[in-house]
Amino acid sequence: MRSNPFRLPVSRIAALFFAFIAALQLSAEVRTLTILHTNDLHSRLTPLDNHHGGFAYVVAAIRHEREGCTDCILLNDGDLAQGSPVSTIYKGVPVFEIANLFGFDAATLGNHDFDYGWAQARNFVEMAKYPIVSSNIVDSKGQLLTPKAWTILKVNGLRVGVIGAMTNDLHSLTFPANLGDYHTTPSVETVRKYANELRSQCDLIVVVGHISPSEERAFLAEPGIPVIVSGHTHSGLDQAMSNQDHVLVRVKSYGEELGRLELKVDTEKKAPVSWTWKKILVDSDKITPASDVAALVKVWEDKVSTVVDVPLAVSNRQLGKPELKLLMEEAMKATTGADFAYINTGGLRDILPKGQLLVRHAWNIMPFDDMVVYGTFKGRDLPAVVTTGKQIDPDRDYKLAVSDFTAANQETPENLRTNGLQFPGEAGLLRDSLIDYIRKKKLIE
Ligand SMILES: [Zn+2]
Repeated sequence: MRSNPFRLPVSRIAALFFAFIAALQLSAEVRTLTILHTNDLHSRLTPLDNHHGGFAYVVAAIRHEREGCTDCILLNDGDLAQGSPVSTIYKGVPVFEIANLFGFDAATLGNHDFDYGWAQARNFVEMAKYPIVSSNIVDSKGQLLTPKAWTILKVNGLRVGVIGAMTNDLHSLTFPANLGDYHTTPSVETVRKYANELRSQCDLIVVVGHISPSEERAFLAEPGIPVIVSGHTHSGLDQAMSNQDHVLVRVKSYGEELGRLELKVDTEKKAPVSWTWKKILVDSDKITPASDVAALVKVWEDKVSTVVDVPLAVSNRQLGKPELKLLMEEAMKATTGADFAYINTGGLRDILPKGQLLVRHAWNIMPFDDMVVYGTFKGRDLPAVVTTGKQIDPDRDYKLAVSDFTAANQETPENLRTNGLQFPGEAGLLRDSLIDYIRKKKLIE
């Protein structure tokens, strides 16, 4: 029997095998990367009533984590603007000025960064001394709103491709006029396209996405997107979401937490081989504030203090969102004489604390310059969200008061779940309605 000329002795096969593995190891290696991240800071420059957050404290926590860290990058996940009097009065500008002290390496936009209009959102992008990337906000010609969809960060020998994404819900989360000619293209598909283009130029792809929970799950299922730093849902995650070697993280809003995701990245697979995630509580009672940030916050807070740090009433207890919703609706009814009022829970941006109430608290609850609007409808035409559990005469006329945001987005589940209702009456700022109502009450029991 002739021996097979292609047959090699076992020792030779083993030698070739080990040479092959060695060659692989030359190109493939495991390197560490630490991603520090924040989301939905919402202009809460000073600590909340629970003493968490405050920009100077968030920055102190960031600097503490970065001390001696050679593989750290810092990402922000949108909705930096909107949420406090300074932001409302100065249309978000001071917030982006202060954000330049955070040391962000990259960020994306959130829906509320459009609250002062698309031109102002673009102004924020220009103000930022770090790249703000978003891949799926385009005008009717397909031109991106931000200069770039992605950026590549070089850290610890790794090239990290950071792609920005905005939720597909953007159109129903703001007034149409704020978006002008801009709209979103499908978030997952668009990011997938950019990720495919970018993959050969980097060792890891990270999506910084201001996205809904269902989009989070969709991103996590994408084979080519191993790391997602998310925002938009304010609650934060108890633990990182994962799908095999893919990971998604998100922390609490308003600067209450800073996230720290430590990854071991396989540069051949371009994916993490392992990771750990922790959330760092930003407790202003235990942290020495960053003095440069504290000084700039004070400059801006001093400008609004005479308007908002004015005593309003006293509250015997704290009111959470469900009770506050009822209080706001009573205020809207008092302002307009309406039979019914409706405010979407997402429109209420803070709780009502116990103790001395200031005008500032009303601003924190209602930072938007939304208006109270009203219309008159037959009982049969009223939306179920306001009539459920109540006796309604289908032929009687009823007055219904809502915010102009709810009127403009009335078909969404968060609002009236109906369409075609006209609200021709206008009764001033929603915030003023709340302030007047609380001031007249004097005491909230
Ligand atoms: Zn958002």
